Formats: sequence, structure tokens, C-alpha cells
Amino acid sequence: MTTRLPSPPDAAPGGAALPILSHWIDGHPVEVLPETTGPVYNPATGQVIARVPRGGAAEVEAAVRAAAAAFPAWRDTPLIARSQVFFAYRELVWRHREEMAALITRDHGKTFPDALAEVMRGLETVEYACGLPTHLAGMNTPNVSTKVDALTLRQPLGVTAGITPFNFPVMVPMWIYPIALMTGNAFVWKPSSHTPGATQLQAELWSEAGLPDGVFNVVYGGREAVAAILEHRGIAAIQFVGSTAVGRMVHERGTAAGKRVGAYTGAKNAMVVLPDADMELTADAAIASGFGSAGERCMAQTLIITVGDAGDRLRPLMEERIGRLRIGPGMDEGVDMGPIYSAEHRDAIIRWIDRGIEEGAELVADGRPFHHPERPDGFFLGVTLFDGVTPAMDIYREEIFGPVLGIVRTATYDQAVGLINAHQYGNGTAIFTTDGGAARRFQLEVDVPMIGINVPIPVPAGYLSFGGTRGSAFADLQMRGEDSIRFFTRQKEVTVRWPEPGRRGALSLVFPGNS
Ligand code: NAD
Repeated sequence: MTTRLPSPPDAAPGGAALPILSHWIDGHPVEVLPETTGPVYNPATGQVIARVPRGGAAEVEAAVRAAAAAFPAWRDTPLIARSQVFFAYRELVWRHREEMAALITRDHGKTFPDALAEVMRGLETVEYACGLPTHLAGMNTPNVSTKVDALTLRQPLGVTAGITPFNFPVMVPMWIYPIALMTGNAFVWKPSSHTPGATQLQAELWSEAGLPDGVFNVVYGGREAVAAILEHRGIAAIQFVGSTAVGRMVHERGTAAGKRVGAYTGAKNAMVVLPDADMELTADAAIASGFGSAGERCMAQTLIITVGDAGDRLRPLMEERIGRLRIGPGMDEGVDMGPIYSAEHRDAIIRWIDRGIEEGAELVADGRPFHHPERPDGFFLGVTLFDGVTPAMDIYREEIFGPVLGIVRTATYDQAVGLINAHQYGNGTAIFTTDGGAARRFQLEVDVPMIGINVPIPVPAGYLSFGGTRGSAFADLQMRGEDSIRFFTRQKEVTVRWPEPGRRGALSLVFPGNS
């Protein structure tokens, strides 16, 4: 029986009857004992709405065993038959998109339209994977030697894994598992336990789409489950998305254990504003990027690096927009920003605001006093704007992952780009200008892989790659697109000679040449 959570947004408050989610192994939910579970909160109400299992080595072992058993048949399934499963899954996600979005809003707090946009951006990579027969072609190189040809094959690795964060419980996993599965691998997913409702739905929809049992498995848990994945000899490759500290550890331990690992991690993105920018458009962009999803996006531009007098002209436009923002439960009509995903994280953001004040930044807007009148127990926080932020401050250097923006003043374009290139993180960036020459220079000179030109959240389309540099990624390849196909496959080179009747060369022990 499935244990998907009841309907959003405020289901099952308190009490013993709380629904318990289950791991998903070998195509079925796995019942767990209540005492081995942890709470799931609705951040808009502050109530516990469900219990989520805390899996460990035993559950990872069961999932890997199921995946390893399912792998050979899935690898050998004709490409068009595999593709049909993807088309069916695509249709099911599309049909359930609002239910999925409401589950995201309930567990995470982001607004319903934002959650729906997340589902649609995740679906792009599923749609890309529907065309898998054309992506998986190898290469044929005739005449590498006399009457000898070479074939280059791309083959799946076996059992692969994904470890994902709380902030995009649908989109980020959908950037990983479609490519792992379409290339013929089996998959074990360790999602975040903070936002499990949409996870469960994805597992159920894969079964409904006809994916064979065992090809897609879910194990909930924290450190213990991650350690078991890192140590398991049956797992060939892992893609991780989450914070820098954990991603660095996953990359170090995973690669030391002989696995392929791509870890895409934390960020502190900065947008440059030149004096010739369209300031109304730039103010909209800064507010949308910084405060959308309560700043809990790895692509949020949280530093606004202004050049010359741009800061003086931009700041009042930002303040005006801040005054109009509506903060409330994500399912409410017209709300711009929902609550923070957890009480602990809200407290951490408040400590960052305190720190910014201690460090001498000018507090222009203070989000700390905000309380929602009808939801006193929700994890709400207002939005904060600092001015006069400098590279010497912790609030400049560190990722806050909340609705806190900082204006940094510089005199020249070169100083602005120099700051971005010297930052410990390099995930996304943007420039706001009407000068095509400056924009062109920026895209060539900035050392950050995802760049927006008058675009504040430059998340590439789902069929293109997504990466990071410096502290924002520990990976040789980017996520998604061609790089991900490479990540989830191993190349084989086959050298072929067909004997011709009546023609045999002389026996020779010399190393074969290619002439
Ligand atoms: P997190 O690092 O706390 O968790 C990520 C995953 O690791 C989760 O599945 C979690 O259960 C697991 N985990 C957490 N602590 C662990 C530990 N000590 N040992 C082993 N596993 C552990 O990240 P989060 O708070 O869920 O997500 C927010 C972070 O993710 C931010 O830093 C954000 O920038 C980053 N992020 C990055 C991208 C990207 O593409 N670069 C995208 C989304 C989020």
C-alpha cells in the first residue's frame, strides 16, 4: 500500500495518526517502524504533518541489491521501449503537476506558482530523456588500419546514485535520474528528508509509467544512509547536489572509494549593475532573484555589485519593491514569498543578519521583526537588504541561503568582475547593462559557468548543462546534457577485423601498427 501524504496544504496536524512515508525499494513501498522515523514539518503552520524514515546501511543494501538485479534487463531493453517508459512518465508528471507542486509548497514553503515552475523546469530534462535513442549513438571509425574498423560504444555503469537537497525536491532530482536511467543504469535516490511528499509521488509515477521494479529506488535518511552509499562497492557513480561542506566530503570519500562523483554545491552569486542599465528592470530582477523562494535557491543573486552611481539609483527602486512584497503561506493567492523551510534555518538566517549589523553593513530593510498574524507558528521571516557590504565581511563571503541581499559598491567594471572572480564560490552570475560590448566582455572574462545578460536567474534549459566552479562544484563534468551522458556511461572501443576468405597474413609478434 502506498503511504503518500494526504492532500496539502495543512494535512494531519499532530497526534499518533500521522502518516509515515516509506522507502521505495524494488518497485514497492517498504513499511517502517514509527520509532525509526523523524518529523516532517509544514513550514507555513509549524506543525508536524508526517514522519519520514531514517534509513541506513540495511536499506541502502536492499536498494542496491534490487537495483543490481534489475540492471541487466534494463540495460538490454530496446531503446525505443525504454523511451516509451519515459514518455509515459512525462505524461504522468504533467498530469500530476499541480499535485506535485502543492506537495512541494506544503513541505518546503515556496509559493505554489514557484513550485509549479519547478516541476516544469524538471520536466524539461525528462523530455530530453524521451529522445534517448538519438542521444546514445556511439561512433563508427572505418579503416583505423588495413581492413580494420573501430566502434565506440557507450554503455551504462550499473547501479548509480543521487543525493539531493531540500530546496528543489522535484527539479534537482529530475536533473539527475532521467539521464542515469535513460543511459541504461539502475538508480538509488537519497532525497532530503525535509521535503519528502513529492519524492514519494515521483517513485509511484515511475511504477505507473512501467519502469521495471528495482530500476528506481528511494532510501530516505541522513548521514548514515549517505555513508552507506559512499562505501557500497555495488554503486558505480554518484551525483550529489547540496551544501559545499557535505558535497566536498561526498566527493572526497566517493572518489577515494573508486566511484565517479559529481558534486554540485553551495553558492554566493553576484550580479553586476553598470550605470547604463535599465534600472527598473534591474530592480525587478534583483528582488525576484534574491527573495524568490525565500532566497533558498542556489542560483539566487544575493550580492548586487553596483558600478559608479548605479547603486544610488537602484537602491530606492529596490526599497519601493520591498515595501510591496506579500509574505504568507505559499498556497495563498497573491503571495510573493513563503516561509523559511525550517525553524532552525530561520534562526540561522537571523544570526546572519545580526552578524551583518555587527560587521558594519547598513541595514536598509530588516526582515527580523516580521510575524505572520494568522500563522504565528509558521517559520516566517521578512526580507532584508544591506548596503555597504564589503569583501571583508562574512555576509559577503558566506552563503546565507535566505532572503538577505547585500549591495556592494565599486568604482569600475574591472573591480566588479575582479570581485566575482576572486569569490570562493562560482555558480551563477549576471550583468545588467544596455552596452553590448560590456556584456560581451563580461561573458568572456567572468570565471563562472552560468551567466545571465539582463537575466537574473540564468538556469540553463533542462537539455543544456549546469555546473559550478571553485566552491560551487567538485566535479570534472557538468550536470545534465552531453556531460551527464558522459558521466553515466563508460566508453568501449571495439577494434574489428573480418577475415576474408583465402587471405591470411603471416604470423608476427610485432606490436600491431595502424598502417
Ligand atoms: P545539505 O548539504 O544539507 O543536504 C544535501 C543532501 O546531503 C541531503 O540529501 C542531506 O540529507 C544530505 N546530508 C546533509 N548533511 C549531511 C551530512 N553531514 N553527511 C552526509 N549527508 C548529509 O543541503 P540542503 O540544505 O539540503 O540544500 C541547500 C544547499 O544545497 C545550499 O548550499 C545550496 O546552495 C545547495 N544547492 C546547490 C545546487 C547546485 O546545483 N549547485 C542546487 C540546489 C541547492
